[in-house]
Formats: sequence, structure tokens, C-alpha cells
Amino acid sequence: MKHFETELPEGYRSVCEINAKNKKTGVILNVVALLIGILIFLLFAFAFGFRELFRSEIRGRFLLMFAVYFVGYIVYIVLHELVHGAAYKLLTHRKLTFGFALSVAYCGVPDIYVYRKASLIATLAPFVVFTAVLLPLALFVQMPALRFAFVLLFCSHVAGCVGDLYGVFLMLFRFRDPQLLVCDTGPKQTYYLPE
Ligand SMILES: [Zn+2]
Repeated sequence: MKHFETELPEGYRSVCEINAKNKKTGVILNVVALLIGILIFLLFAFAFGFRELFRSEIRGRFLLMFAVYFVGYIVYIVLHELVHGAAYKLLTHRKLTFGFALSVAYCGVPDIYVYRKASLIATLAPFVVFTAVLLPLALFVQMPALRFAFVLLFCSHVAGCVGDLYGVFLMLFRFRDPQLLVCDTGPKQTYYLPE
């Protein structure tokens, strides 16, 4: 199956654009991300019970908790983009681009137009991979300070996937045509459909 086109085929027109470099889009994505992060944190707090989650041991190991979270988050950001990159590379074998825009890291394949199925896979890959890794850690690690760090990491992960999930949502519910082509420069995704 063909996963991409090197040029936009005739008759296609742009139907939607998400640009994280656009100030308004950037602010909206960040606010939604923050709200979702807080919501997930509250879900954990209710699931464990606030007392259990904030057990007194955490206070004594605050530095450990903070260090694991801080280092973990930086590693996470890099790995998140590398997973997008790996999926794009496997599906297209084309040149990738990585970078930072405002507060978001990005990865894209700027020179081609990717079909819906491949775009869905590459966009969703980090969410699936890191949910599978971080959720069990957040739920089952026994040491309270470590578990708290993983809970925060999991919340940051889901919040950080807000832009990706919005793209997935668009492709699942709004643009269901398998002919859909996506040009992903990294910070900007443009969706094209045949007329
Ligand atoms: Zn992403």
C-alpha cells in the first residue's frame, strides 16, 4: 500500500491546518493540555486516595521525586519525538525534521504528503507506546516518591499528546476518506482532500 505522495496530486485542496507556531493555536493547545493534565492527576488522586498519593514518605524523598520527574520528562520529550520519527521513517523512508516551536517539540516529514492511515499511525504512536510504559509504572510502583514521579510523568505525557490527539480525532471523525493526504512539517499539519 502506498503511504505517501511526493507531490500533491491534481485536484487536491487544503481543508484544514493545525499550526502550533500560530500564537492562538499554541495558547489553546497549552491551556487544554494543562487542563487535561490536571484532570488526569485528579483521577489518580481519587483512585489512590489523596492521603495515599501524598504519603509522608514523599516529603523526605522530595528531591528524588523531583529528579526522577525532571530527568524523566526531558528524556520523555526526546523519546516521544523519536517514536514519531521511527514510525514516519518505517512508513516513508524519507528525510525527517525535528525541532522546537514555542513550548512544543516536534517531528515531521516536510517534503511529502502522507496518506491518512500512515499519518494516523505516526501521529498516535507515541501516545500508545508511552501510555503502555508509564501507566503501569504510575499504578504499580511501590515506593511512594517514585510512584508520584511516574504519576506526574504520565499526566505530563497525556497532556503533551494533546496536539497529536487532536490530529487523530480529526482523522478519525472528520476526515475519514482514505485518500486524505497530510503534509506534516513538524509544527504544522495541513490536511488535503480531493475535490
Ligand atoms: Zn507528538
